[in-house]
Amino acid sequence: MKSQNSKPKDATIMMIDDEMITMEIVQTYLEDDGYCNFYLEDSSVQAIESLEKVMPDILLLDLVMPIASGFDVLSLVRKHEKFEHLPVVILTSSTETSSKLRALDLGATDFLAKPVDPSELRLRVRNTLAAKAYTDQLAYFDPLTNLPNRLMFHENFDWAVRKAARYKEKMALLNIALDDFGRINASVGLQGGDDVLVQTAQRIESTVRQTDIIGHSPLSENVSLNLFRTEGGAFLLVLERLEDSSATAIIAQRILKEIKQPLKIGDSELHLTASIGIATYPDEGKDSLTLQRLANNAREYVKKKGGNNFQFSSHEINSMYERRLNLEIGLRNALRKNEFILHYQPKVDTLTGNIRGVEALVRWNRDGAGLVPPNEFIPLAEETGLIIPLGNWVLQEACKQLAMWQRSGGLEIEMSVNLSTRQFQDRNFYDVTRQIIEKSGISPQQLTLEFTESLFLDDIEWKIKQLEELRKLGIKLSIDDFGTGFSSLSYLRRLPVNELKIDRSFIMNVPDKQNSCAIVSSVIYLARQLGLKTIAEGVETEEQRHFLEEQQCHEIQGFYFSRPLPADKLYDQYLRLKKLA
Ligand code: C2E
Ligand code: MG
Ligand code: MG
Repeated sequence: MKSQNSKPKDATIMMIDDEMITMEIVQTYLEDDGYCNFYLEDSSVQAIESLEKVMPDILLLDLVMPIASGFDVLSLVRKHEKFEHLPVVILTSSTETSSKLRALDLGATDFLAKPVDPSELRLRVRNTLAAKAYTDQLAYFDPLTNLPNRLMFHENFDWAVRKAARYKEKMALLNIALDDFGRINASVGLQGGDDVLVQTAQRIESTVRQTDIIGHSPLSENVSLNLFRTEGGAFLLVLERLEDSSATAIIAQRILKEIKQPLKIGDSELHLTASIGIATYPDEGKDSLTLQRLANNAREYVKKKGGNNFQFSSHEINSMYERRLNLEIGLRNALRKNEFILHYQPKVDTLTGNIRGVEALVRWNRDGAGLVPPNEFIPLAEETGLIIPLGNWVLQEACKQLAMWQRSGGLEIEMSVNLSTRQFQDRNFYDVTRQIIEKSGISPQQLTLEFTESLFLDDIEWKIKQLEELRKLGIKLSIDDFGTGFSSLSYLRRLPVNELKIDRSFIMNVPDKQNSCAIVSSVIYLARQLGLKTIAEGVETEEQRHFLEEQQCHEIQGFYFSRPLPADKLYDQYLRLKKLA
């Protein structure tokens, strides 16, 4: 959605002319005058498409062009609901009055003779833009808050929805209203009421523009936010290019929290609340009218239930969000309530059949009501930052268990612990890891940290250094789910790792699918060249085991030998496999 340009020199100037050189000359003249946003289109048949994309503040249009003439373009422009009022300056070398008259009839705003005289050009453009800015301000902005008004919303929203459809993007409409605005007005007077609106608008604006919550942003950088003041104490907020609707919930929550902060109006301190109704595209509504109706209904529903809350318009989205919120609350308490436990899955030596090591896999025993698998809560733990204390707990617990097995059980095994990228990026990660290892009394050589290739999405140099530091502690490093991330195998050479763990998705298709067999055997081959150990995860069948043994994969992990087990059961399994071997 296009926002209004604050300074005329920021205006976007579009030109359509079949001669590129003419446009470039004009651009140079205008650049000298301080303008900086240009879009040059040399194909008149592309005109409308480019206009929709660029949404210029002014169009400089050539008349004589092949296929579609300036007249054709102009008449299309005037028929387009978005460009009905766009200032169009016609550039023409023709001195003929008849063509000028025709262009005027079609809705041209002004004329410029070719070849263009620089000072005349600047003057025309400046005046046209100034006139546009003035009428826009009057027609499209709320004088009190300076926010775009309902008319602007209507002109933009439908178009924004269609754009989202075309580019398959998600968006959301938030209908925000102060609770009891009438009562507020009565208690602080009209002037006070205006003041409330101005301050509320500022609060909402600054809240939605802050991108940081708990150290990470719910919105990707691409999201565009547009706030409108529509009536009384009501605002509309449009979020475009959303990645998921839960970000919308976070924004809504933040707005509510901000509005609840005491507001000083004259001598009195007001305590306000708001109701927010949300409609998301395309999940809840597919066209602009439906979305507006849904967001409005949702807001009314919140109001009826006492306000100070937000609500999505559809039941499913609401309950999805509720589940997520509950999960988050549960997760926050789980560490304190000792609800996490570790299971251990054996990693078996292909040659001897002995357990060489185990991988610690976390489970959440939620309210004692059954185990929640990590895939259901690790992503949320990462998003909320809870992965840091949770990850530390896992490492500590795994080391403690390993020390115990070694001391009192005589188990000669190693321990692997999963690490998420977020943990790795934590400032204290290195120190905490070192302390945990030292305190546990295990020898660092017995510990492997597993991380995935996604770690190397950015900041590769820094991360390589960090990994090298970790290795200096004596611990080993493994790339988990290998083969699913970055494709450049040549990178491997530079990474300080000891082991590749081949992803289950390849093992699954071995030995039936040739492609997977080829990938698995070349990974094992490559690893051997680089002096790395290989381990296959997700081994479920004898055929898979056999294939991997043939390829001289070092270790195997999977249901074929054992599922992840609680510590005591793992101990029994260790003894059982030892006897078999
Ligand atoms: P992962 O590290 O790749 O762990 C292997 C997953 O595959 C485990 O699932 C394991 O139970 C499962 N698996 C093992 N053998 C087989 C098999 O033969 N067939 C099938 N179908 N599955 C098998 P789990 O325990 O649900 O863990 C899932 C993921 O959660 C892990 O993938 C890991 O990325 C993450 N995770 C688990 N524990 C932790 C932790 O303590 N910290 C972090 N950051 N992530 C963890
Ligand atoms: Mg793993
Ligand atoms: Mg894995």
